[in-house]
Amino acid sequence: MNNIQCQSVYRGRFAPSPTGPLHFGSMVAAVGSYLDAKSQGGQWLLRMEDLDPPRVVAGAADNILRTLEAFGLGWDGETMWQSRRGKAYQAALDELRRQSLVYPCNCSRREISDSSLGSPSGLVYPGLCRHGLRGGRNEHALRVLTHDEPVIFVDRLQGEISQHIEREVGDFVLRRADDLVAYQLAVVVDDGEQQITDVVRGADILDSTPRQIYLQQLLGLPLPNYLHLPVALNEAGEKLSKQTLAAPVDANRPVETLMQVLLFLGQHPPPDLAIEGVERMLTWAVTHWDVNNIQRCRMLEKQGGG
Ligand SMILES: [Zn+2]
Repeated sequence: MNNIQCQSVYRGRFAPSPTGPLHFGSMVAAVGSYLDAKSQGGQWLLRMEDLDPPRVVAGAADNILRTLEAFGLGWDGETMWQSRRGKAYQAALDELRRQSLVYPCNCSRREISDSSLGSPSGLVYPGLCRHGLRGGRNEHALRVLTHDEPVIFVDRLQGEISQHIEREVGDFVLRRADDLVAYQLAVVVDDGEQQITDVVRGADILDSTPRQIYLQQLLGLPLPNYLHLPVALNEAGEKLSKQTLAAPVDANRPVETLMQVLLFLGQHPPPDLAIEGVERMLTWAVTHWDVNNIQRCRMLEKQGGG
């Protein structure tokens, strides 16, 4: 009897923005996505989200690659660079246009804030240009039409998430007035191209995920599984980031940081694991990776120094 089955192979990814060196918060996403992929015999792909030229810092991408290597986080295949993906993003925009789901918007930020009710996730675009551009500025963004049906998905850690995009976000931007493709569209097109089956990333992106699922549905792309990890906070309760002056991780001392990341993710590495070096630590972590041990919350204070 022919027993060949079509098995879906796990494909995960890490997608840093080269706006600075990796800090503890970005290492949580890197290590978490790596362990989840490798513990399931999967592949772990890398994507540089260098979409926004003014924010890209020279040398940051190289620095990120070197840091990942120092931590033993080897990626599979070629690195994808968003800055080289303009044609693919344009093709997706054309497809949505063909479905009459895209319209131009020349509203200023001021006009939107004056007419928006706002929501917990920020300003809601109230659809001012749905029926045609209004007078004023020539340069315009492109927005996608949304509707009142909720987008519902089950996050592997955070549980069921539901969002009424039209009510809570509004028709959102796919291409900005300065011609840059919006993050939401780029991510969806790239996850499709890289055939990502599982997205593991920080919960600071959780509010964006329904928008990405909506675009996947419109573009006929497969929907990945999602796992949103707690975001690391500093002692002042702020998200670790370049803006909050989070310290870069020290690529020369990966053992210490890796230990802290494993503890942050609720894993229970034996204390003497640290003397075994980074490779043995990672091997242990892959073998013992348990998503059920991660704290089910969106934000979590980082313990310990560094
Ligand atoms: Zn508008």
